[in-house]
Formats: sequence, structure tokens, C-alpha cells
Amino acid sequence: MLIGKKVRLQPNRGQERDFFRFAGTNRFAWNESLAFYEDVYRSGGGYATLADLMKHLQDMKHNYPDYKWLLEVPEAITKQAMKDLLKSYRTYYKERDPLHPERYKPKFKKRGKCTESFYQRTDNIRKTDDTHIKITGIRKPVKCTMLRGVDLPKNIQNPRVTFDGKYWYLSYSFEVEEAAIVDYARGTLGIDLGIKDFAVFSDGRHFANINKSPEVRRLRRLLKRLQRQVSRKYEANAAVDGNGKKVFHKTANIRKIEQQIRMVYRRIANIQRTYMYEVAGAVMRTKSRTVVLEDLHVKGMLQNPRLARAIQEENLSEFRRILTYKCERQGTELVLADRWYPSSKTCSCCGHVARDLKLSDRIYKCAICGLVMDRDENAAVNLERYPEMVSKTKTA
Ligand SMILES: [Zn+2]
Repeated sequence: MLIGKKVRLQPNRGQERDFFRFAGTNRFAWNESLAFYEDVYRSGGGYATLADLMKHLQDMKHNYPDYKWLLEVPEAITKQAMKDLLKSYRTYYKERDPLHPERYKPKFKKRGKCTESFYQRTDNIRKTDDTHIKITGIRKPVKCTMLRGVDLPKNIQNPRVTFDGKYWYLSYSFEVEEAAIVDYARGTLGIDLGIKDFAVFSDGRHFANINKSPEVRRLRRLLKRLQRQVSRKYEANAAVDGNGKKVFHKTANIRKIEQQIRMVYRRIANIQRTYMYEVAGAVMRTKSRTVVLEDLHVKGMLQNPRLARAIQEENLSEFRRILTYKCERQGTELVLADRWYPSSKTCSCCGHVARDLKLSDRIYKCAICGLVMDRDENAAVNLERYPEMVSKTKTA
């Protein structure tokens, strides 16, 4: 199975300039190839192939002095941009939806609107010493202390250098033989995911919603303030054109605040990601043979404002992605409970289903057997029993 890794690079100033140049070339090759592809198609030439795209760019850089600079950038970068584009078209043709014809359609990459990144040749990537790594096209090896004492795997796949607005990273994936075998300490662990708490385990542990932590609240307030500032500044600097329409433009100050906004977003995303890895780690440390999650989490979401809901959904799917690969690696079975399984409404003691349970009922009180239990803990216990329930109904 495939494992992904990401390590931070610490380029010096000159190297960083080259990184930006390479990322710009990646964007250029993508955009140029996209325009060419569309041209060929429109003029009845069918679907351009990789060879067609490469020939087009070759012609440009050898025949037009304006594009001579392309010769100074590793060819693997532009070639990969074309491969990425064609892959993107394949996805588009496969997923194309007549109701939303523009969805999945490859778009032009705009500077500042897309992740700065470029491809690395797999056969050229290597450590030169314990803290430096050779990047194609960059003369001196780039500093990377995160690889200290660790060897790069032999079978590296798809290495990329990316910029997150602050730091540069090298990411790559590699194949490992098989899942590690552990001594299981537990049969099944049920996990109820929600809004009040991020996760409640069927062993009774609660993991708070990180979005409600003081630090994230503070950052969200800061974000609001900066966003208000920036829109005020846009208004203040707006001019009116000949047609009486407002024209906005960026000042150095606006650029500065927008960069600050990106940094706050980045910080929030990092906190969320770290936390999800922490909770996923706690799941793995229970050494369960099986882990059960709900398939689609709709519970309680409807009451949430739209944006908060979107964020929450994104977080939950990211968490599930992390858990999926961690489980795969450890040989744990991951079961997604059917979304209609009444995990919240069922009494985990007697099995009675309380149809009238409201979202505001934080405590589950059973009218039949008298069980009194935290609502989410009750749901987690029911999820733990889910595999058993399913096999029962199958045999019945
Ligand atoms: Zn009961």
C-alpha cells in the first residue's frame, strides 16, 4: 500500500527564488497546454495527446526568443504539468455532469489563487548528506533537517515541492509491503462524531471540538477583524470609472493584510490537522480489531449555519481519510455504519428506539429500562455493536 510523506525544506533566498520560478513555469506550462488543448479541440483536431502538447511547448521555446527562459527550467516540470493536465481532463470526461458542465473542467491556474508547486524527477532525488537534499535544477543541495537519520525510500513516487504560503515542503509517496500486525487489545471500538464533542469513543472517552478551543476562537476573531479591515480599505481606495462603476485595486497595505489572512487560515488548518492526527492516534492506541464510524454524518448538522457545516463536513471527511490509512497500515478493519442506523435513538441497554429524541437532549433517558447516559456515549456504544447487529440481521 502507498504511504505519503511530507518534509519541510529550508531553501536559502536564491533557492527560494528558483522555487518560485519553477512553480511559475509549472503554472505557465499548464495554462499554455490548456489553451492549446482547447484550441485543437475547437478547430476539429480532436483530443491533443501528451506528444502534441510537448511538441507545442518545444516549438515555443526553440523558435521564439520570448520563451527562451523555458530552457533553463528542468524539462520534467513542464512535462509533468502536461501529464497533470491530461489526467485532469480524463477525470473531467469521466465525471462530466450535463447539469454542471463546468464542474471538474480543468481551469487556468492563477498566480496567488493556486498552490505554488512543481514536480521532481524521481531518479534524481537523493540525500547528499544528513541534512541536505538534491533538487533537480537547483545547483546546491537544499537544507532539510527533517530527514536527519532517515533514508529516502528507494521507490519514491510522485515527488513534489509545494509552498503553503509560508514554508516549502517536499512531498512524496512510496509503496510498503503489507500492514503491520498488532496484538489486538479490543474487539470493536465505536466512534460517534459530532459537533459538541469532535469524537466520543465507546470506551467513554470524549475528544472536544477543537474549533471551540480558546486558541481557534481567538484566531477566528482575528480573521474576522482582518477581513473587515481589508474590505474597508478596498472601499476607501475604490475609484469610479467612466461608466460610474466602482473599481477596486490592491495597495501595498491591502496585500499585507491579505497575506496575514492567509497565515491565519493556515494556522487554523494546521491546528485542526494536528488535532485530527492526535484523535486518530488515540483510536489506533486502543488496538481494536474493528473500528466503526457513521457513514455520513448528518446528525445535528442541519442546525448549523451553512459555512460552519461545510467546515465541519470537510474536517470529518479529512478525519476519515486519516483513519482509513492508519487502519489499513495497522490491519484494523474500518466499518462505516449505514447512515440510517439509529445510533443516537437506540437504547444501548435494552435496544428500545426512542423516535422522539431531540437534538437538544444531551442525556439519553430510556423510557423502558430506565438507562440514563450521555447521548453521544450511548451512540458510540451502539456503533460498537453495529457489526454484530448487521451479521444478526443477515443470518435472520
Ligand atoms: Zn433501555
